[in-house]
Amino acid sequence: MENLDIAKFGGTSVGNFEAMTSSYRVVIANKNTKLVAISACSGVTNILVELASGSCSGAHIDELLEKLRTIHNEIISKLDNKEELSAHIEDHLKEIKKLAIQANMEKSDELTDRIVSHGELMSSYLFVHLFNQNGTKAEWFDVRSVMRTDSTFGCATPLVEVVASLCKEKLLPLLDGESIIITQGFIASNAEGQTTTLGRGGSDYSAALLGEACNAKTISIWTDVPGVYTTDPRLVPHAKPIAELTYLEAAEMATFGAKILHPSTLVPAVRQGIPVYVGSSREPEKGGTWVRPYTESHPAFRAVALRKNQTLIVLYSPKMVGASGFLAKVFSVFAKFGRSVDLVSTSEVSIAITLDTGTATSGKSHLSEGMLDELRQFCHVKVETGLSLVAIIGNDMSNIPGLTTRAFDSIEKYPVKMICYGASNHNLCFLMNEDKAVQALVEIHKHLLEK
Ligand code: ADP
Ligand code: ASP
Ligand code: MG
Repeated sequence: MENLDIAKFGGTSVGNFEAMTSSYRVVIANKNTKLVAISACSGVTNILVELASGSCSGAHIDELLEKLRTIHNEIISKLDNKEELSAHIEDHLKEIKKLAIQANMEKSDELTDRIVSHGELMSSYLFVHLFNQNGTKAEWFDVRSVMRTDSTFGCATPLVEVVASLCKEKLLPLLDGESIIITQGFIASNAEGQTTTLGRGGSDYSAALLGEACNAKTISIWTDVPGVYTTDPRLVPHAKPIAELTYLEAAEMATFGAKILHPSTLVPAVRQGIPVYVGSSREPEKGGTWVRPYTESHPAFRAVALRKNQTLIVLYSPKMVGASGFLAKVFSVFAKFGRSVDLVSTSEVSIAITLDTGTATSGKSHLSEGMLDELRQFCHVKVETGLSLVAIIGNDMSNIPGLTTRAFDSIEKYPVKMICYGASNHNLCFLMNEDKAVQALVEIHKHLLEK
């Protein structure tokens, strides 16, 4: 299909009947929106993660299932065919209960993914009914038949070429039909047909991957705010909307914690040069943000972002002085344990490294004792948790004299654990204690983005 738009709706955009109805209106307002990927109803994935934790008593399992029932029944109560829809949701709840009991005996990442996938399966099923009830033909599509990943349960890696060929075979022909195709974000499957997930918040990434595989002209991310702002409007209510952003700026923002986009979302968009639009499903008339390869404006300071749950590892070894191969040895340990390193800073006898605690559905920390033990064999290891990263995102920061001074002045009152600058011309990061990070972000925003 020419000019295909893929629209993704997040949890709050499908969280209740009214939200689903606004999202429906957004879809039908654009005749090119033939493919729709949605998240679980708001709050559902968190409940499912808890059910998968393996530590819920029988009574608590029933309590959580009742919460799931209430969320979905509120939507069903405003739809036709109530009995059929309720029966369908009850089948899901029965299966979730069985799996939660199984998790109590032996929890696993594989089982967690199976449990959490029910969130998107249920919401997409109800969304299709809302379309049909409104006289718009829509078809439910199980994304797991095309979204192929490896077997890293909890945060799987998509196999892009396989996804492209499966989409060509199974999804593209449907897009030429009359119906709007409604599918799930976040969930996927491995070659054995087991359910996997792309990590928390992964529906944005799903939409971008589907957009890439189906040759979409645009990817629209519909959420609860009218676009990307100069910082999270929940932290700074008077933050300003940004009309357009480059891929690079948006990717930096997402990587450094702007939850509005999953950090991997831009990767498929960049590969295919597909523009990404971010807007509010409740207030689409307010406009939004276009993320494109190039923009007209290139402000030195574009935005500020906050990434919580950071861990700092400082590795110290006097043998580092004048020696070669020490860094290689350190990074080979991280590679062996599959841990991705974020920021790095080195001195004569030590290396400081930051890691993010997982975005996997398992909520697993990125720190394994085995990895630390292996590092301890050749250096002294100090681990500090409870940290946040505050990142200033901009353009060409290193080429304009005095810019960094302004950034440093804005946080003069706050102790900083680590500073990273230089590897990219587009961000300047400060690692600080979690309890001071929000105040520091507010100050930075005030000094650099409100003038
Ligand atoms: P969805 O469920 O639609 O995926 P998310 O909660 O994942 O929505 O992302 C939207 C939220 O991202 C907003 O409500 C906002 O609090 C947060 N956010 C963080 N940084 C920004 C930013 N720079 N601009 C806009 N929203 C942001
Ligand atoms: N439902 C999943 C989550 O809450 C994925 C998403 O919403 O993007 O993490
Ligand atoms: Mg999200």
